[in-house]
Amino acid sequence: MKRILLSLVILFVFSNLLFSQVQSPDDFLGFPLGADRQLADYHQIVNYLELLGERSPRIKIDNLGKTTDGNDMIIAIISSPDNIQQLEKYRQISYELAHPYNLSSTEAEELIAQGKVIAFITSNIHATEIGASQMSLQFTYELATSEDPQINFYLENVILILMPSANPDGQLMVCDWYRKWLETEYEGGRMPWLYHRYVGHDTNRDFFMLNQKESKLINRVMSRDWFPQVHLDEHQMGSRGPRMFVPPYKDPMSPNLSPLLMRLEALFGANMSFRLEEKDLSGVIDSWVFDSYWPGGTRTAAWKNIVSLLTELASCDVASPIFIEENELYGGGKGMAEYKQQINFPNPWKGGWWRLRDIIDYELVASYAFLETSAKFRESILRGFYQMNRTAIEQPTPWGYVIPPNQHDAITAAKLIDILLEHGIQVLQFQEDLIINNRIYQTGTVFIPLAQPLRSFISEMLDIQIYPEIRLSPSSDPLYPYDVTSWSLPLLMGVACDRIDQPVNVAMVEIDSAPYPEGNFIGASSNGYAISHQFNNTSIAINRLLKEKFEVYATLQAFRDGRTYFETGTIAIPTQPKLEQQLKLWAKELHLPIHPLNQNLPESKLQLKSVRVGLYKPWRASMDEGWTRWLLEQFEFDLVSVTNEMIKQGQLSKRFDAIIIPDINKQTIIDPKPKDAKSAKNYRPMPEQYEGGIEKEGVDNLKKFVSDGGALIALDSGCLLPVDEFPLPVFDASENLNRSDYNAPGVMLKADIDTDHPLGWGMPSRFTAFVSNSPAFRTTAPIGDVDRSVIAVYPDESLLLSGWIKGEELLRKKAAVIDVKFGNGKVILLGFRVQHRAQPHGTFKLLFNAIHYAGQP
Ligand SMILES: [Zn+2]
Repeated sequence: MKRILLSLVILFVFSNLLFSQVQSPDDFLGFPLGADRQLADYHQIVNYLELLGERSPRIKIDNLGKTTDGNDMIIAIISSPDNIQQLEKYRQISYELAHPYNLSSTEAEELIAQGKVIAFITSNIHATEIGASQMSLQFTYELATSEDPQINFYLENVILILMPSANPDGQLMVCDWYRKWLETEYEGGRMPWLYHRYVGHDTNRDFFMLNQKESKLINRVMSRDWFPQVHLDEHQMGSRGPRMFVPPYKDPMSPNLSPLLMRLEALFGANMSFRLEEKDLSGVIDSWVFDSYWPGGTRTAAWKNIVSLLTELASCDVASPIFIEENELYGGGKGMAEYKQQINFPNPWKGGWWRLRDIIDYELVASYAFLETSAKFRESILRGFYQMNRTAIEQPTPWGYVIPPNQHDAITAAKLIDILLEHGIQVLQFQEDLIINNRIYQTGTVFIPLAQPLRSFISEMLDIQIYPEIRLSPSSDPLYPYDVTSWSLPLLMGVACDRIDQPVNVAMVEIDSAPYPEGNFIGASSNGYAISHQFNNTSIAINRLLKEKFEVYATLQAFRDGRTYFETGTIAIPTQPKLEQQLKLWAKELHLPIHPLNQNLPESKLQLKSVRVGLYKPWRASMDEGWTRWLLEQFEFDLVSVTNEMIKQGQLSKRFDAIIIPDINKQTIIDPKPKDAKSAKNYRPMPEQYEGGIEKEGVDNLKKFVSDGGALIALDSGCLLPVDEFPLPVFDASENLNRSDYNAPGVMLKADIDTDHPLGWGMPSRFTAFVSNSPAFRTTAPIGDVDRSVIAVYPDESLLLSGWIKGEELLRKKAAVIDVKFGNGKVILLGFRVQHRAQPHGTFKLLFNAIHYAGQP
């Protein structure tokens, strides 16, 4: 015993000795952390945290995997040395409390008594909001080295998972750009490209769909590995309002959220603002702007019963300080009409210098307060978490949702199920047929029971959204939403899914992988093969066939082959050398049924051609451009980014058959510079090579490109460029309306399409359109060498399927998709968000079809 004690003492002395050798962040970096015009980049951050991990028994560094650009996404797990030695035990307790299926209340209380709060902090998801990535260094260093009994108390009760950057690629880009232009007139200005290879600011809009690698890794920490009870996401905002936002949030709230969760968030927020006030850090506001309705950001966690907190700090110019006169500060947004003292903002900041170091100081206090609340309320937090999960399991009705195997696009339906599984949702499958409400659900039907911990999240994702209209007075407009108002996955993805309000009594098994159809290649045929156009994956098959120089057709008529019916637009492939082995392989990889024809290929058909695609990419970085690029890469379209310079140079038909204009404001495309001295006051120039737009000569070159036979594919507001400037025989009826007349901030509406037209191939005749303040097109009689065909319309009836819209009547009978013949070429107007954030799988085909169609004369 004595010997053990002695060696423990030696170990203690030794580790403290080692520890005294750990450099502070300032020593490690060679400058004071947060100093003006100095940044620690992500590589330095990782190196330093790894050093702390090697030296401190309180810290363990975990590498989650690679980011989009191949950087390591790391977390630091920080707790007392004892807890660090028993991480698996505490992870298991967290898992049990997150899934209390067979836990008696006595057993739960035992776990609560032993357990630690798992607290997760993500920093810097928006790369220019860089303060928290810097703060992470000091926070980790202090937690690793401090002998303050308070800190020891926190570490004994909490296991902190700290992610120093939720967007490492962007952090590095921002540091590079900032350093490059230091001490020039462009210092602290914005980059001409997205601070993530594809999605830029939308890194924080992807948390239910999980398209991007970074979102997947963060989701894994939350939903698969650690099951944290509390989460804090540290952001920055504009410079001229309050200094800092802390929860509670502002209305509205989703009816699916737990009331207890709302109260816990308020508790955490109150301790943050209290500790900030105590240190006389002024300008902190709560109950402002940010709502509890939209689940697209990391706040998706709240629907998983995780206390989900957001902080927003006023920004400086990345690391350059700014000076703000008091009269330049302004209010606005729900919760503060004017910049002046009020209960949720009792101590307005009075202006002065604002620097990176200030941001770090506020964030440190908030992060400590987060840790303090987690530690002091440890048992209540664990019990609350258990109770919310327990209540979710025990709530009686509705019963759940079913996704039958017969789907318009069964591959996309499986993709939806895949997303649910990735979120940690329990998914079952019928082992036999079952009749519910006179409808037969066949064997293989997928059932998502609501009696599970993620009940709120499931309802939010699988049901429709009804936006809660909260008014400040009975006669005023409702509070406007923060972001989009609808995310119902079945509608977004074009998947049939029914809510079941009664017990489901049938043999079922739990599945842990999505039931993708087994792509089948039944056998060789000397006549050729057919692939239905209903699958989004059919476009991948077309692209592969064309790349391998196979002959491919689309049929211009519906036909029957034996018992199988094929619609117009079916892909028909004549038998060719080496085709069979490729089709076998691709059927399997793409889950596609490939049908060997018993008869000759139909007579009436179009040969599909490879299309050289250009995607317009402005120097005012566009997230819609990035998402479009990402989506088209996923579906194996080859594309080239088209810059302003390329368009201005002209001769576009030499390089492209189709050019895509993403959802970008017309003025930004033509010339984003302000037009007069007055509007130039707040204009921040970019370095010369990134200034300007395509200008008049670019518009002319695009016009010539189309006249000569090219195809211009325009998306949503991007349509207004050709509509107004070519011009086309099309008008936007929403042009001069203000927000109180027409407001559609991301809503799902009914639309009808001509499925015999190449743009509508493979679509159901009625589909869901995701509309985001999109144009309301009317066409008019054409003059000269121009013609127009309306391919999709909003029907003349109530349009709303999910979400919120004001002035819906405006869209009725208006055109949603138009095919305009212009000279020898065409302009394809896709007038709503067919590929918004790569979420509406149900309308991806419109973009894919537009590209395939672009190759046609
Ligand atoms: Zn942000």
